[in-house]
Amino acid sequence: MKTEEELNKEILETIGNIQENHPELSKFEDEMTVTIPDRETPEINAKVLKDYNDSLKAMAKGYNHSSTKHIVIVGAGFAGLKIARALNNHPHYRITLIDKNNYHQFQPLFYQVAMANLDASNISFPLRSIFEKSKNVRIRLETVTNINFDTNRIETEKENFNYDYLVIATGATSNYFGNTEFEEKTFPMKSTYEALQIRNKLLQHFEDAVATKTEKTEKLLSVVIVGGGPTGVELSGALAEMKNDSLPSEYPELDFSTMRIYLLEGTSKLLGNMSDVSSKKAKAYLIKLGVIVQTDAILKAYDGQKLILHDNSEIQSTFVIWAAGVKGNIPTGIHPELITKSNQIKTDIYNRIISTNNVFAVGDIAFIQTEFHPKGFPQLASVAIDQAKNVAQNFILIALEKKMQPFKYVNKGSMATIGRNKAVVDLEKPKLSFQGFFAWIIWMTLHLFLLIGFKNRLIVFINWMYKYFTHRQSLALLFPALTVKSKK
Ligand SMILES: Cc1cc2nc3c(=O)[nH]c(=O)nc-3n(C[C@H](O)[C@H](O)[C@H](O)COP(=O)(O)OP(=O)(O)OC[C@H]3O[C@@H](n4cnc5c(N)ncnc54)[C@H](O)[C@@H]3O)c2cc1C
Repeated sequence: MKTEEELNKEILETIGNIQENHPELSKFEDEMTVTIPDRETPEINAKVLKDYNDSLKAMAKGYNHSSTKHIVIVGAGFAGLKIARALNNHPHYRITLIDKNNYHQFQPLFYQVAMANLDASNISFPLRSIFEKSKNVRIRLETVTNINFDTNRIETEKENFNYDYLVIATGATSNYFGNTEFEEKTFPMKSTYEALQIRNKLLQHFEDAVATKTEKTEKLLSVVIVGGGPTGVELSGALAEMKNDSLPSEYPELDFSTMRIYLLEGTSKLLGNMSDVSSKKAKAYLIKLGVIVQTDAILKAYDGQKLILHDNSEIQSTFVIWAAGVKGNIPTGIHPELITKSNQIKTDIYNRIISTNNVFAVGDIAFIQTEFHPKGFPQLASVAIDQAKNVAQNFILIALEKKMQPFKYVNKGSMATIGRNKAVVDLEKPKLSFQGFFAWIIWMTLHLFLLIGFKNRLIVFINWMYKYFTHRQSLALLFPALTVKSKK
């Protein structure tokens, strides 16, 4: 039997350990079932002390936190999710993964949800089911509002978290470059919810056109997509296929020859980050599908009915999709000097935020400047995943008390799809560009591979095959509540 002195010492050590490593558990004493002995009272009897000590140890074991470090990851996109999965069940870490949605979203296929080719559930994965067997990853559905670097504390709308390490992986959102008119009147596509809003607005658009007098039909049918990057190219291509394939038979009342699909790009080429040959081919594919492509076309004003371009030319449309720019989603609490013009957070080559030791920014939100990449790395899923792999590996090295490894960027190339049998691919090594059916197969295979879960891959594949052979949209469902524009 231990002496009172030994028991007292053991108790104080356990309490000290818990309080030092996990201040968030400071209320644990309230949960104790025995009377808490007064540390100043040496005559407390051994039986009370032993009961207390046993309960305390059982609780400490239950928390299993005394030797682990707490990593809080904000954002369960490509980067945040990858880190949480790589450190799943790692004995050195417990992880709180926070996201404002309870699912991971596969952004590259948003446009297929918007164009009624895929169901939202095919590209949105519930986080709790991904980690249902995890011993160390816990999910929180919260919007992070503030970060306090001095106290290692993160604030959300509902609760606060103390962290040993923080990973900010909050990605990017639409950039309207300060124009509130565009923000209010156009439709962005940066979330599954917004993709569904576009689908609803589109279908409602056609229903309204059916119910309206003929002279207004062109304005009601026409759709303008602003931004000729991959999102704008993929959206306009898919919409043109919809117009050519399924819409005329689904809406026999409407004359779709009056429907115009405009793709406006402010610079002189589509797919600005791709090779000239891919850019030109993408443009040729779109024109062949019937899209009106305007380059050097900068939107000046839009009142919800009429667009005015830089050269004062006008386009009539009640439906404009905004795919023209992105900016980082930065929670408050980050020093303004650490934020770039594009709202990214400056980090070192380990993705560690400048002048911090334990806070990382990863993926679209991170800005790493190197000699060869003075403008930072591209905001792509592949870059976010590679950075996340490196950060996760560095956490493993930290646990082993070894040196962290710098992030090494390997440019694998880029691709975009325009429609059935039509895609463009630029490979980096070997330096090669190709287009057409083979490029389209590569695009499909890669995107299927990147999706989470066998079931989703299978369903998406079946949907694609169905559309390929029947030329029909399978999911033209209208949910009116979503037609109202509100952000999520
Ligand atoms: C329409 C579209 C198409 C794209 N197509 C391609 C493509 O074909 N190929 C390619 O490589 N890349 C593509 N991208 C880019 C790619 O999706 C991004 O580079 C990638 O998602 C970045 O990953 P991330 O983890 O940094 O951020 P994200 O994947 O954006 O994840 C950020 C997460 O943070 C959460 N979040 C944000 N703010 C908060 C907050 N305050 N509190 C809590 N949670 C928050 C969000 O809900 C989200 O889950 C596309 C992007 C879009 C929008």
